[in-house]
Amino acid sequence: MRNSRRAALLSSALVLFSISAVGFATGEYAGASKLPLAGVTIAIDPGHNGGNATYPWTIGRLVDAGGFWKACDTAGTVTLSGYPEHAFAWALSLTLGADLKAAGAKVVLTRTNDHGVGPCIDERAAIGNRVHADLAISLHGDGGPSWGRGFEVIEPGVSISRRNDDRPILIRSYVLGAALRDALQSVPQLVPSTYLGESGIGLRTDLGGLNLSKVPKVLLEVCNLRNSADAGLADSPAWRQEVALALVSGIERYRAAVRSPTTTSTLSPTTSTTGS
Ligand SMILES: [Zn+2]
Repeated sequence: MRNSRRAALLSSALVLFSISAVGFATGEYAGASKLPLAGVTIAIDPGHNGGNATYPWTIGRLVDAGGFWKACDTAGTVTLSGYPEHAFAWALSLTLGADLKAAGAKVVLTRTNDHGVGPCIDERAAIGNRVHADLAISLHGDGGPSWGRGFEVIEPGVSISRRNDDRPILIRSYVLGAALRDALQSVPQLVPSTYLGESGIGLRTDLGGLNLSKVPKVLLEVCNLRNSADAGLADSPAWRQEVALALVSGIERYRAAVRSPTTTSTLSPTTSTTGS
């Protein structure tokens, strides 16, 4: 899918999103006894795993990534001072998971520790699918050029197999991506990527974890771990908490948008373009 199609799919949803976001900000939940994310299931996928580098044959085996074969996973990147991406993703996922639970959500993680191997990218998507997650988010730190900074929210395009050519799910993923991008702007010292995507958002069709998802999903490169300034932020628990709280806020705004009756009719399956 080209960026222009993504823009076309998103444009009508964004209008409705901004309307409902205003409604939320003016007190949609005022007086409600329920927590904002009660009844919502969220799959968090902490990128990579601590044991991946030790088992290259296991992690290098090929799996279906959405109509093509790709390595099960990789070891991920590492900062210049030695803080590994898998540890960053794991720490941020635990913080985010705790914050989401405090907001009432049910949280499912795709791995249970930071010293194992895998799971593979196809299984990471399957975990979110099996629990019928309302949304899924994969957390990574990029290994970009040392001069580049910032976050990129990566959204799914239609994979070569077209198995994920499901307009309601894609639109929800784009609404989720926009909500998270907007929320992340409030995180101290974090900027939209200076070298990836456009205004903090990119679209990819080569990521199995997105191609195989049957629930709204985005992959977040939280910052560039190969940039010394971003790496310093990533290594700070206080800064990771800022990121987590911004993501919770973005997720709440996303939920408010898709629960709006007007938005729901726009996202109904009757608009599906599934062709194979
Ligand atoms: Zn990664």
